[in-house]
Amino acid sequence: MSTSHVIIGDGIAGSSAAETIREADPDADVTVITDEGETLYNRILIKEFAKGKLPEAPISIHEPDWYDERDIGLELNTHVTDVDTDAHEIRTHSGDVYEYDKLLIATGGTPAQLPVDNSDADGLHHFWTFQDARAIREHAEEADKGIIVGAGLLGIDLAAICGAQDIEANFLMRGNRWWRYALSLDGAEILHDAMREKGVTPQFDSGVDHFETDDDDQIVAAIDPNGERYEGDFAGVAIGLHFNTEFLRGSGIETDNGVVVDEYMRTNDEDVYAAGDITQFWDTILDERAQNGAWGSAKEQGSIAGNNMVADVDDDTEEEAFRWVSTYSITHFDFPFLSFGHPTLGDEEAEAKYGEREWRRLTFKDGKLIGGVLIGDLSQQSKFKKLIREEHQIGDKKDLLTEQDVDMDKLLEDAPATAE
Ligand SMILES: Cc1cc2nc3c(=O)[nH]c(=O)nc-3n(C[C@H](O)[C@H](O)[C@H](O)COP(=O)(O)OP(=O)(O)OC[C@H]3O[C@@H](n4cnc5c(N)ncnc54)[C@H](O)[C@@H]3O)c2cc1C
Repeated sequence: MSTSHVIIGDGIAGSSAAETIREADPDADVTVITDEGETLYNRILIKEFAKGKLPEAPISIHEPDWYDERDIGLELNTHVTDVDTDAHEIRTHSGDVYEYDKLLIATGGTPAQLPVDNSDADGLHHFWTFQDARAIREHAEEADKGIIVGAGLLGIDLAAICGAQDIEANFLMRGNRWWRYALSLDGAEILHDAMREKGVTPQFDSGVDHFETDDDDQIVAAIDPNGERYEGDFAGVAIGLHFNTEFLRGSGIETDNGVVVDEYMRTNDEDVYAAGDITQFWDTILDERAQNGAWGSAKEQGSIAGNNMVADVDDDTEEEAFRWVSTYSITHFDFPFLSFGHPTLGDEEAEAKYGEREWRRLTFKDGKLIGGVLIGDLSQQSKFKKLIREEHQIGDKKDLLTEQDVDMDKLLEDAPATAE
């Protein structure tokens, strides 16, 4: 009898799992269910589309034929509403029921809405899907003044879209800098200057008390908690993700701001796996639970989950564990920016500035490197990723780690790897 694998979500995690399962088990039944109206596309590139710099075609990754050719069932526009782990069934918004032997939850997140008046006004955008990007591009092409809220990795995408579309914008930030959990003021200033050059003005110690609208419910301004008024006919809000777990209510599957899994991507139910942004996974490098929000990590988790779903029923397939140093790069400016590992965690840090637009910050936990941010010069990234993966005790060698060109031999003289 063939095994039935059901995958909820056709983002990079769900799609990678489907591909892995099909390669490992040519006889399996594989079904991918998504509530979006289109097949897998490159979520990283939708910002370039919204800027007006890319047409639609190169953003698509899979055409519907891709699923047909691999005999993978595909259900578009289908929202999963319930999971019954006893019956091994899931139910959709239209009442359809799918039975599974192995289930993968790869449902990612949805942008959170600001809990303030008029946060659903016309002209106010959240950014996650290709559909969002189409609406943003269409509006941005005719807008004059913008308001951006949310000083993180998606907020800066919205700011860069304003820059590229000639929208004069104010970027409202809560603290004194962009991405304050990962950057010091020194590093953030490089980004602030780059934003200003694109016509986006960072406003610090700000935020939104409420939005103002006109009689047609169109956004006209944001009033910040200090009473400052920022006009705008275009607004972008990126204050974080709300993880899509509602349909798991009552299923017995453990959730905690996402779906809790071990390093094999298995939930507390042996037949249910999860992968991608949605997971609170056991990080074997940190030795604690962690969550990643990056394309490469989601892809790898999808492959690992798919492999292990097959390994459960096939003795020839070996189980694999997820062990990964995540990266996330920003390409909006004329200098590179890369964050790696867990730059917002840790108990110690080290940083150095090498030039007007060259800066580095590293974070450590229990004497081991766990993450960092590189601005301007990315040449040392593979060294840092290797140091994280191999778990060297190097917390007392910050002077060597902040040298522009890190001498690995010198660094590792008496700091052997504590992991392979
Ligand atoms: C604008 C933007 C720029 C980004 N830039 C970068 C970058 O530069 N580098 C980087 O590494 N990462 C970037 N990311 C993050 C990266 O895209 C995500 O980490 C990655 O796409 C997560 O993949 P996923 O498969 O886990 O989830 P998703 O891609 O979110 O896929 C989940 C899918 O599940 C569907 N779904 C949810 N609930 C249900 C349900 N109940 N029933 C059916 N379907 C459901 C969703 O509609 C969605 O299609 C960016 C993200 C965005 C939005």
